[in-house]
Amino acid sequence: MKQRSRQKVLERFKKGLGLNISAMKRECPQVLDECYKGKKPVGWYRSLLELGFDPYEIEHELEEYVVCAICMKRFMTLATHLRTHHVTTAEYLEEFGGELMSESNRLIREEHLRLPHWEKAYSPEYVIDRIMEWGRIEAVNSMAFENYDPCVHAKAMDYFGSWDKALKRSGFDPEQVREVSRYRVWTRESLDDALRNLPAGQRMPTDVMLSAKRMFGSVREALAELGISREKFGKSIKYRDSEVEKVATLIKEAVAYDGRERVRKLKIVYTDNKKLIDARYGGLPKMARAIGLTEEDVSWVFYRNRDDVICGLRGMPVNTKKTHLTKLDKSLYRAIEERMSESFEDLLKEAHKYT
Ligand SMILES: [Zn+2]
Repeated sequence: MKQRSRQKVLERFKKGLGLNISAMKRECPQVLDECYKGKKPVGWYRSLLELGFDPYEIEHELEEYVVCAICMKRFMTLATHLRTHHVTTAEYLEEFGGELMSESNRLIREEHLRLPHWEKAYSPEYVIDRIMEWGRIEAVNSMAFENYDPCVHAKAMDYFGSWDKALKRSGFDPEQVREVSRYRVWTRESLDDALRNLPAGQRMPTDVMLSAKRMFGSVREALAELGISREKFGKSIKYRDSEVEKVATLIKEAVAYDGRERVRKLKIVYTDNKKLIDARYGGLPKMARAIGLTEEDVSWVFYRNRDDVICGLRGMPVNTKKTHLTKLDKSLYRAIEERMSESFEDLLKEAHKYT
């Protein structure tokens, strides 16, 4: 933004005047025009951010009237007035553009959008801003956009005549937008394909990232589930696949044990490799699943099942009484009480069958 424009905005701010699009358009049109010039417009939203304002916190001034472009008189709405000029609303809009209703009569009402509204009334500039902002987080092909912001989509068609024109005004190449959106019907296969073929060292395209998130919870999990090596991801790799494989082997060795020994060994592996496990898989249970184990295999519960219980009892003297167990190993006692259908005596016998 030019220095002079910058100053104008700051002056308005100091005076407590509106910094919304229509107030700017009325009073400093050249400042606003500057933001929407060229093939890659900056837009008012980004200009406000650049100046250090929060677009959601600015003052708003809404006009109560709309000016007829034919006679330059002010009206709440032009719909009926235009008859006096013998033009239809469509002809008028075709010729002059703009709005048929005053701002205070066309307040934005939708709420709960993923990208909340920051302006209070529609304007072509606001539509452009929203297309640009959505473009930072989503693919902006017509169909997708209509899903996440239907009213702005409809307004864009009114203002610009077609979605392609709206895209162009917002600095997007419609062909490129369509190309990106072609991948939007994501399947496991197409995502797998896209992830494997990402250009190294580049930021992941938003739609790839989002579909990974939609399908698997995160990119990391998608990679793990699809068995894709992270070595392909340039700078983002922290851990080599060979390292990860070593940890996987240690985990498998640990879970081959029963009872307390399994948990003890597992804890050592986890503590030593926590960062790798969390970064690559988002935790031990998820890693377990990714390497062909179950969550139960890596559970921290000492005595998950009968094998664990037998293993635990094997470490107890043959003449152990059930009452002793409450003192010797409370977890084992509880596991027998709560999870085993057989009696303590039978299980103890079984544990010492071969000794
Ligand atoms: Zn008129």
